[in-house]
Amino acid sequence: MNGAMHNGHNGANGELLTAALDFDDTLKPFRAPFIEWYNRLSGTDIDYTQIDRYDLAYYMGLGEQDRHKVPELVDRYHEQEMQDTSLSIPAETVEVLGRLSLFFRFPVITARKNRFKPYTLAQMSQALPAHSPEAHHREDYESLSTTKGRLAKKIGALVLVDDHAANVEAALSEGLEAILVADQLNRGYDGRALRVDNWRQIEEELMAIHERHLNGDFVL
Ligand SMILES: [Mg+2]
Repeated sequence: MNGAMHNGHNGANGELLTAALDFDDTLKPFRAPFIEWYNRLSGTDIDYTQIDRYDLAYYMGLGEQDRHKVPELVDRYHEQEMQDTSLSIPAETVEVLGRLSLFFRFPVITARKNRFKPYTLAQMSQALPAHSPEAHHREDYESLSTTKGRLAKKIGALVLVDDHAANVEAALSEGLEAILVADQLNRGYDGRALRVDNWRQIEEELMAIHERHLNGDFVL
């Protein structure tokens, strides 16, 4: 039994409900600080605000030959991020998580490689000290050839919160609820998920989901 289950008393059967969370650009900014870091590293002057698609290689001026360098650079960024104790989940997010922790448990599902799991767990225990942190990293679900949506369902989540429209759509297609964290890359989103600008709105929506669940009109 999950240790977090003991903390809550507001789920339908006295347990916490489950909201699966994406990590990068949901709990913590990634793309903007990554581009800043890359600019410092390579002497480039890429303007993050001009980026409007997921193809980072294009903006970094890398051709087909050098495209493979992007995941390597992302891993290098994550490695230095682990050393920098000033980089943590923003205070506003931590406040909201604290209030929601009476009602939800928050497993993280992230495309980061498994070797970054200790960092994810450390960040989550800092942000949510009352809960045992739980993180599912890339190889945990890639090896199951599954999507974030399917994994979220498998671990009992009612809802997935993610900034990537493809993950949100995968969750919806599994019958879960989903919340899309707005950024410039998903501004054209026209799917069924609610698109939110900040953690206050995530809080409102998760509490609405909690309410619906308790009222028994939550359909999976
Ligand atoms: Mg993300």
